[in-house]
Amino acid sequence: MEFVHSLPESKVIFGAGKLDQIGVAASKRGSKALIVTGKSSMEKLGFLEKARSYLEREGVSSIHFNEVTPNPTTKTVDKGAKLALEEDVDLVIGFGGGSTMDTAKGIAVVAGHAPEGGSKNIWDYVSAGKEESEEITEATLPILTITTTSGTGSHVTPYSVLTNPETNGKPGFGDAPMFPDVSIVDPEILREMPPDLTAITGYDVYSHVSENLISKGDHPTADPYAKEAIKFVGKYLPRVYKDGDDMEAREMMAVADTYAGISNTISSTALRHAMEHAVSGFYPEVAHAQGLASITLPIMRYNIKNGDSKVRRRYGEIARVLGAIDEIKDEKMAAEKSLEAVEALIKEIDMDKGLGELGVESSSIPDMAESTFKYMEGDVEHNPVYPDKEDVEKIFEEAM
Ligand code: NDP
Ligand code: MN
Repeated sequence: MEFVHSLPESKVIFGAGKLDQIGVAASKRGSKALIVTGKSSMEKLGFLEKARSYLEREGVSSIHFNEVTPNPTTKTVDKGAKLALEEDVDLVIGFGGGSTMDTAKGIAVVAGHAPEGGSKNIWDYVSAGKEESEEITEATLPILTITTTSGTGSHVTPYSVLTNPETNGKPGFGDAPMFPDVSIVDPEILREMPPDLTAITGYDVYSHVSENLISKGDHPTADPYAKEAIKFVGKYLPRVYKDGDDMEAREMMAVADTYAGISNTISSTALRHAMEHAVSGFYPEVAHAQGLASITLPIMRYNIKNGDSKVRRRYGEIARVLGAIDEIKDEKMAAEKSLEAVEALIKEIDMDKGLGELGVESSSIPDMAESTFKYMEGDVEHNPVYPDKEDVEKIFEEAM
């Protein structure tokens, strides 16, 4: 067995009402913050005003940038970074879901490097699909996050996922300096997610850890996080989808999200994330994890059919932790059971929709297949079976 385990230092402050810790956390790292949010939810719910008052109480002033849209673009990051530079902020707070936290990370990179002669465009720091890119160093401004979805795990990963509107490429990228210094997970904020957002973001948690588990390479230090998170999703996601005020289920989904971020930092996602980024890169109106759900079963069938015994065993583990079987007696049967269990989970949270229903057109399939390899090659390589372009096109077709 050989593996590399590396987790940068970061602190998670978890609990109802813990938003009030943002002032103290920020004051240890700077005196003027850029608060990055989406268009409206945190302002409407009153949490933004609360956060600003907690900052002020500790002597930290703040500027607000509220232009993040779901599946965020490099253009929005550049605009936010321009504001951060003009206002000379010394830390960045991402206050929202994955889209917002990822944008905040990008802003912290540009605003930290530009004064030292680095590029003012985040795309220059993205390595995917290119020969060269600018280095992401410790010049990156300190990043704090307050996660409002459960989720992407972005509060405990060094990754950011951004779409380049010129090419529709949506790569993930990241380096240790982009790891948030402190992240606040406050279930009172998470409680405000409506049922469809709860389901969609919860399915992203499942996607990360199930891909981490089947991903190529040995990740013995990620596997326990991944398996526990799958167990939590199976038990608590249907519950919190039906009753958003079920606070035990809310909290356990937030724990699962945090486990998934840790697991994702050690291990890697695979073909499902590679192919989905192509979908929401071309169709930004498709919610990331709804895209994941739509392509899940065709990819599982492809991997189970073409994979080796180790792959079938890993899928069998998913069936076991989801409670579909007690133990793996027959690898092939166990893997088949995982298909049934995951299909039932997707149905239970009303995410059983084909790509066509989401507005994806068959004519985009060749472009999406090309983008899968061009911008998400790393995740394709981590898939237990390496597909060719034709395989990917067939999977997209089956998912329509
Ligand atoms: P988003 O951040 O895109 O948020 C979706 C919507 O939910 C927004 O309209 C937002 O409104 C609203 N919202 C967020 N929180 C709440 C709340 N508590 N109550 C009510 N409404 C709320 O969703 P995700 O968290 O799913 O992020 C998806 C993005 O993250 C994708 O781009 C995906 O590719 C990326 N991702 C990143 C990963 C990483 O490691 N960095 C891993 C996996 C995915 P408003 O805008 O008004 O605030
Ligand atoms: Mn994801």
